Amino acid sequence: MTAVNEPLRPEDPLTRLKGIGPKSAQSLADEGVRSILDLVLHLPRRYEDRTLITGLDGPLEAGAWVLLRGKVAAVRVRRVPYRRMHIVDGLVNDGRGKLALVWFNQRWIHRRLEGESELFLYGQLREKRGGGLQLVNPEIEQVGEEGERIVPVYPRLGRFGGRQLRKLIEQCLPAANACVDPLPDAVRDRLALPKLQEALRQIHEPQLSGDPAERIKALEVFNRGATPFHRRLAFDEMLAFACAMRSRRAARRDCEGPRIDSSVVHAERICSLLPFTLTEAQRRALLDIGGDFEGREPMARLLQGDVGSGKTVVAIMAMLMALDSGHQVALMAPTEVLAEQHARSVTDLLSAAGYTVHRLLGSLPAGEQREVRQGLEDGTIRLVIGTHALFQESVAFADLGLVVVDEQHRFGVAQRQALAAKGRAPHLLVMTATPIPRSLALTVYGDLDLSIIDELPPGRRPVETHLRFQDSRPKIFEFVRREVEAGNRVFIVYPVIDPSEEIEAAALTENEEEIRRALPGVGIDVLHGRLDRSRQEEAIAAFRDGSVQVLLATTVVEVGIDVPEASVMIIESAQRFGLSQLHQLRGRVGRGDRQAWCILLADDGLGEEARRRLEVVCASNDGFEIAEADLEMRGPGEMTGTRQWGPAGFRFADLFRDRQLIDVTRREAAEYERGGELARMIEGLGVYHRIEVGWRGD
Ligand code: ADP
Ligand code: MG
Repeated sequence: MTAVNEPLRPEDPLTRLKGIGPKSAQSLADEGVRSILDLVLHLPRRYEDRTLITGLDGPLEAGAWVLLRGKVAAVRVRRVPYRRMHIVDGLVNDGRGKLALVWFNQRWIHRRLEGESELFLYGQLREKRGGGLQLVNPEIEQVGEEGERIVPVYPRLGRFGGRQLRKLIEQCLPAANACVDPLPDAVRDRLALPKLQEALRQIHEPQLSGDPAERIKALEVFNRGATPFHRRLAFDEMLAFACAMRSRRAARRDCEGPRIDSSVVHAERICSLLPFTLTEAQRRALLDIGGDFEGREPMARLLQGDVGSGKTVVAIMAMLMALDSGHQVALMAPTEVLAEQHARSVTDLLSAAGYTVHRLLGSLPAGEQREVRQGLEDGTIRLVIGTHALFQESVAFADLGLVVVDEQHRFGVAQRQALAAKGRAPHLLVMTATPIPRSLALTVYGDLDLSIIDELPPGRRPVETHLRFQDSRPKIFEFVRREVEAGNRVFIVYPVIDPSEEIEAAALTENEEEIRRALPGVGIDVLHGRLDRSRQEEAIAAFRDGSVQVLLATTVVEVGIDVPEASVMIIESAQRFGLSQLHQLRGRVGRGDRQAWCILLADDGLGEEARRRLEVVCASNDGFEIAEADLEMRGPGEMTGTRQWGPAGFRFADLFRDRQLIDVTRREAAEYERGGELARMIEGLGVYHRIEVGWRGD
């Protein structure tokens, strides 16, 4: 037990904080925050200079971000008929003037506006339709006893937010001084980086000049996360990642891969099984894979290409080579629906070559699963396709030669390693359609070699994409009807299944009635992850055979589902999706030779920025280009976009903002490896940054 008055240490549990009992500690643990250090590493999203409050009697300009202090009155909640949107509006009075407030799609906010107390409101001023200004979607916080000073604004942690969270983190800051800097002084000096302790303190409590003009400038840099202190954390995180990649590669060099015959004769026999000729890009990828099979160490290759570029076909060729050389092959997909689909397309090609496809899915009866596991263990089953069920503890392989993982971004590194660890050191081929800009791919997938398929099979017509708003619904349904009558099929995709208080977005269950009424006589069904698997398969089968022509779905259709007759993809509340995700969804149509359309159906009240983002998807059919544009359009303060990419899952680094650190950290890591210091660095950095190490999961 620690004495109550002993100084806080980073590793201490949260219950050492005033106001945190076991219950609150548990609720923070649910958000992944368990120790004092975890709170110290919870960084402000932005900073508010509360000495600089805008008065409503002064000049106000559309586009400006302002902080107001006043009381809110005349609050109304309205539902806009037919547009599926709630608007909360009101007036703020700061004693010097009044200003209109409006929140789109946040109907719950009115509860926080009730009462007589003064509030801080932070948001952007925009022109109203009929003239005049309004503050749009402002963040609010009660005026407390914090005084007028610079306050950090933290992302919420479950039920902790605002001033309460700020107070908690403030209590933790003394522990920041007890952190051990993982970087040797020499390295820090050479790269002109601040000490870790200082970086953490400054980020939580910026020490700024007393001169208002200077302070405003400095705060703007803090708000962009562009200070040396932010850079220090990003550096450490990227360095941790680079070191982990090097160590994983080193571990792989010590392994020997299974022998697979990839001779030209063999490859040509395999290609002759295809009903078409490979594109040049597919041929190149296959050559890369063949080269890996010839080498001593096991392959670890990323096969990247846009939706429909023919990755799966290439993977099947590789699988055939491994099978013909006598090894077992496993293909892992992120969903059961997709696993089923792969099983179907693989069966077509591989049964011609004399191989039987087996499935291992969590939803299969236990007895059936046991049989498949038995077959894998004694080697009688050579080819298995499945989901996460493939890397349960109880699955063992007799002679696993090749693992193919589809849609890598859905899997964690740890998961794919767990599977790779099932064999001695199987070859690994990872397929992804996530269009990571080339410049970044080698970093986020640092431990993989890269093959890019940058060419679509001949004869594809680009999908025509349009941005539409709620007033177009009648016209859109009319269009859907005509497409259905012409024998085509339509997807309508929703961001959520059920309507919710928190996220106001088009919800599948809420809209089903409207769609059925708008399209009488049309076969309509739903598909989402909450339906049990047989219901899901029923829906897909009906959509495939045409008894269902309109499928209302969630993003479960994002990967996989291949129906050549599908010609229209409608995406509701399109602004809720990432650009690459929209592109991915769009890839579900235009698989056949007919013209296909994608309609991005946005909610009303869309900001200028959001609109421009959606227009990028309308203007381009190239996944890489869209990803690049997404990067470039990301303005200050929007630094979350690249974090979802790849296994890295960066928390502090932003691969765009910090792109010049990519090379620096890679060079450093190489240096440490030469000096035999890799393991020590990984251990030190690992205190602050989550790193996944170990090629074979051991
Ligand atoms: P991906 O996995 O990259 O999304 P697939 O391998 O599933 O793409 O291929 C998409 C479709 O294109 C499939 O129907 C496939 O049979 C077809 N296809 C793949 N390669 C070619 C090719 N070289 N020529 C013609 N059609 C092809
Ligand atoms: Mg695919």
